Amino acid sequence: MVIGIIGGGASGMVAALAAAENPDNRIILMERQARVGRKLSATGNGRCNLTNLHAGERGYHGDDGAFAAYAIQAFGPEETLRWFRSLGLFTVAEDSGRVYPYSDQANSVVDVLRFALEKPNITQKLGFEVEKVKKTAGGFRLECKEETVECDKLIIACGGLAGTKLGGTMSGYKLLRSLGHHCTKLRPTLVQLKSGWGGVGGLKGVRANCHAAIYHNEVLHSESTGELQFTEYGLSGPVIFEVSRDACQGSGDWKCRLDFLPEIGEEVLKSELFRRKTTGLPASELLTGILHNRLGRVLTQAAGISAQRSISELSEMEIGEAVRAVKFFDVALTEPMGMDSAQVTAGGILTKEFDEKTMESRIVPGLYACGEVLDIDGDCGGYNLQWAWSSGRLAGLHAGGIL
Ligand SMILES: Cc1cc2nc3c(=O)[nH]c(=O)nc-3n(C[C@H](O)[C@H](O)[C@H](O)COP(=O)(O)OP(=O)(O)OC[C@H]3O[C@@H](n4cnc5c(N)ncnc54)[C@H](O)[C@@H]3O)c2cc1C
Repeated sequence: MVIGIIGGGASGMVAALAAAENPDNRIILMERQARVGRKLSATGNGRCNLTNLHAGERGYHGDDGAFAAYAIQAFGPEETLRWFRSLGLFTVAEDSGRVYPYSDQANSVVDVLRFALEKPNITQKLGFEVEKVKKTAGGFRLECKEETVECDKLIIACGGLAGTKLGGTMSGYKLLRSLGHHCTKLRPTLVQLKSGWGGVGGLKGVRANCHAAIYHNEVLHSESTGELQFTEYGLSGPVIFEVSRDACQGSGDWKCRLDFLPEIGEEVLKSELFRRKTTGLPASELLTGILHNRLGRVLTQAAGISAQRSISELSEMEIGEAVRAVKFFDVALTEPMGMDSAQVTAGGILTKEFDEKTMESRIVPGLYACGEVLDIDGDCGGYNLQWAWSSGRLAGLHAGGIL
């Protein structure tokens, strides 16, 4: 049987290797870029957070986030890591459950997959962009600019629109729509959030551990604790990625409430600031030793305290304002950054049009889809690649007639 796979990214490579487990199958893996796994090599800030030991039924979203559960159970984090180990990849897990290659290089993940693809029954076509797909009597005809490929079964593993510079594209959605499938609204997720607050630029580059809570019209939308990074246009860092899903979508007031000392109570902070009244230091040093110096000064100013004054002359109310600035700091939000900056696409091809146990289309027999092109997105921390591995393996095994 000839199995065509469009997309040599995370899910497509795993699908190809799964389908190739039957040596009688012939796999044609088509990738529009010059090499496979281009986006994969940039994941996790170049370290590739390839899975999360806590990835399970929870942590996946979409019109029907539970669609992901079967695939994740069938080929979960532990099995995935065993499988990667069999390809020669050593990995290490952090306390948070995030797993990285031991080498700390995303390229290690790409390399073991690349080497594994060197099999007699896998043909790779690189720089090969499939522009049209036609259903034929016996299978599918795929058209690239100068070439046509025929296959019996077809897996669409084109990924999402996010990370445009790394290969994110509308292509998979278009191909699946041309075959009768439907797509939800696409939104960037795991993405930085822009702010109109003037102070943000002055904090560019500052990192802080904090609790971040997003509010829409004063109603809590999402919250998490972790590392925040200020950028010239707004808020970034893992904690922001975690709370960014659907933030700033739709009208109304959006804000991020930051607690810069999530593990320290208001009373403890207040008594420490009172103690500082005896030091004779200027108010610009009120939060020195507690927060990043630049952040401390911005928060002191935001509390209405002039830097030139002495801490000794601050009133109880002013100390209270400084505590509030540290523990309840509101940053107005305007919009998420675009798809080119986003790590993942929320939305995609309707999962109800696919069988979650096989990844086969309910509309076109013999057609499969996996990975980000489907309307599934995962939490930050390795969940998205786990979805790519799990759904890719399921699609490959079923398209290849192995299961
Ligand atoms: C900067 C960044 C960092 C990330 N870090 C992490 C992380 O650490 N952990 C995590 O879990 N997730 C991370 N992600 C998300 C993760 O990379 C994706 O969810 C995952 O790669 C999706 O796999 P996929 O196979 O569906 O798509 P992709 O890996 O994007 O692969 C799709 C492939 O299909 C090709 N293609 C598309 N259309 C065609 C066509 N018509 N013809 C031929 N080829 C085509 C594309 O060129 C691409 O190579 C990150 C994403 C980005 C952008």
